[in-house]
Amino acid sequence: MDIHAPAAEAEAEILDAIEKWLARDVRPHVLRLDHADEYPQQMVEQMKALGLFGATIPQEYGGLGLSATTYAKIVEKIAETWMSLTGIFNSHLIMAACVARMGTPEQKAYWLPKFASGEIRGGLALTEPDAGTDLQAIRTRARREGDHYVVNGTKTWISNGIHGSCFALLVKTDPEAEPRHKGMSMFLAEKGPGFRVSRKLEKLGYKGIDSAELVFEDYRIPADRLIGGVEGRGLQAALSGLELGRINIAARGCGIASAALKDSVRYSQIRRTMGKPICEHQAIQLKLGEMATRLQAARLLTYDAARAYDAGERCDMEAGMAKYFASEAAVENSLEAMRIHGGYGYSKEYHIERYFRDAPLMCIGEGTNEIQRIIIARQLIARNPA
Ligand SMILES: Cc1cc2nc3c(=O)[nH]c(=O)nc-3n(C[C@H](O)[C@H](O)[C@H](O)COP(=O)(O)OP(=O)(O)OC[C@H]3O[C@@H](n4cnc5c(N)ncnc54)[C@H](O)[C@@H]3O)c2cc1C
Repeated sequence: MDIHAPAAEAEAEILDAIEKWLARDVRPHVLRLDHADEYPQQMVEQMKALGLFGATIPQEYGGLGLSATTYAKIVEKIAETWMSLTGIFNSHLIMAACVARMGTPEQKAYWLPKFASGEIRGGLALTEPDAGTDLQAIRTRARREGDHYVVNGTKTWISNGIHGSCFALLVKTDPEAEPRHKGMSMFLAEKGPGFRVSRKLEKLGYKGIDSAELVFEDYRIPADRLIGGVEGRGLQAALSGLELGRINIAARGCGIASAALKDSVRYSQIRRTMGKPICEHQAIQLKLGEMATRLQAARLLTYDAARAYDAGERCDMEAGMAKYFASEAAVENSLEAMRIHGGYGYSKEYHIERYFRDAPLMCIGEGTNEIQRIIIARQLIARNPA
């Protein structure tokens, strides 16, 4: 891709390159890899070559510097083919966003080019066995010892936990602090002595990508890995990446909802009952009409949130609405696609059952949909004082 081309041209160019890659190197292999729960190593190498590990990293650090809008379109396209692939670069890019927004100039200069090229890949390690939504309740502790910190604790559900080597790690540097977030810090933790993967987690869907539990036992980390160089800004670093993360989940939801619709439109014209294609039965037409409207609404919410993000506006309400609506659209469209496909929708020879297994994760990741509605309501009230 020519990174100096005007934005619209560059966007069309990268979307075209991705479409060709999906058709040639991804689509033919998805069923096999997903059912075998096999890590798509070859596709990861191809994603590196496409620049996806640097998609939203600024160009001055070797990334593509794409807008959230272009990024959302890329994510939707890839998720339409195989949602799991988007997880391999998304949490990696949130880790990079923490450094880009909160890191010291030295940290940006050292880490961002390595993240952008995919030489170092990883993700975000926030969740613990006893703390997901309530991040301020985490117990992983980093204690200062000279020019190092010593980390002890456990993180769970960490995407890229096995195949990644570096993680934005949220810890408590002062467990007694009040308010609690003032005692939280974020480090860039590379695998090494004291940092081990304790197990791979088995899942309903989201196959191929590794989700793992990470254990830290007297893991010594140099003090210069503290993002921003100042303790107490960990929660802020974590939250700073979440708006983009939610736009990404919304785009993934659109991708699944779109795939479910496209497959249904195609199948309903081929499958015949009572002497005509099922798309001529009104009961099926009602489903297709609802699915298409839901997808369009999800897309518009996603683009609206991405536009606000690109304009530098506060967009937690917009990103929350997009994430909430698009993830529910993915769930509803995948179930409707299964009904339209009848018994074949339940078959592992078709893609529909995968959409149905993958879609619910969109309702959980990057803040559950319960929390999204609370964020929307709080912002609504804050923006409309009585
Ligand atoms: C496949 C997968 C991949 C993941 N990848 C990552 C990753 O890479 N990095 C990472 O850090 N985490 C990751 N997660 C973890 C994910 O972010 C958490 O599962 C999610 O934040 C919810 O936390 P929890 O599971 O602890 O649920 P809980 O926080 O225990 O919530 C349980 C239920 O209570 C509701 N609830 C909780 N608090 C409130 C409240 N105040 N008001 C109303 N309802 C509430 C929730 O909405 C939910 O319905 C992943 C999870 C999965 C399943």
